[in-house]
Amino acid sequence: MSQTDPNCLFCKIVEGKIPSRKVYEDDDILAFHDIQPWAPMHFLLIPKQHVASLAQVGPEHAGVLGRMLALAPRLAAENGARPYPEGGHRVIINTGDDGGQEVHHLHLHVIGGPRPWRKG
Ligand code: AMP
Ligand code: ZN
Repeated sequence: MSQTDPNCLFCKIVEGKIPSRKVYEDDDILAFHDIQPWAPMHFLLIPKQHVASLAQVGPEHAGVLGRMLALAPRLAAENGARPYPEGGHRVIINTGDDGGQEVHHLHLHVIGGPRPWRKG
C-alpha cells in the first residue's frame, strides 16, 4: 500500500488509527459500516491508497475501482440486502462539493436493506 494522507479520516481508518466496523478487507480495498447509516445496511468501500475523489481517478485506478464495483453486490448480499430484483441496493459516489462529498478520500456508499430508509 503506497500513498496515504496523514490528515485524511479514511486513511486513518485504513491505518487503524481510528476504529471502524469492518465489512471486508484485502490488500487494496477496505469496506466498513457508515457511522451514520441511511438505511438498515450502509457501508463504504474505499481503496486503501489515498485518492481524493472520483475526479482524480485515472487509468491506473481502473483495476481497483472495477474490483470495488464487483464486490459491492456480493458484500451487500452478505450484509443484509435481499436478492435482486426484489431487493438490491444503491451505490453512490459523491464527488466534490456540488456532489455532496464530505470526506475527500474516494468511497462508494453501498446502501440497502428493507425499506423504509432514514434517507434516500
Ligand atoms: P460523503 O458525504 O460521500 O463524503 O460521505 C462520507 C460518509 O462518511 C458519511 O456518510 C459519514 O457518515 C461517513 N463517516 C464519517 N466518519 C466516519 C467514520 N469515522 N466511520 C464510518 N463512517 C464515517
Ligand atoms: Zn485518504
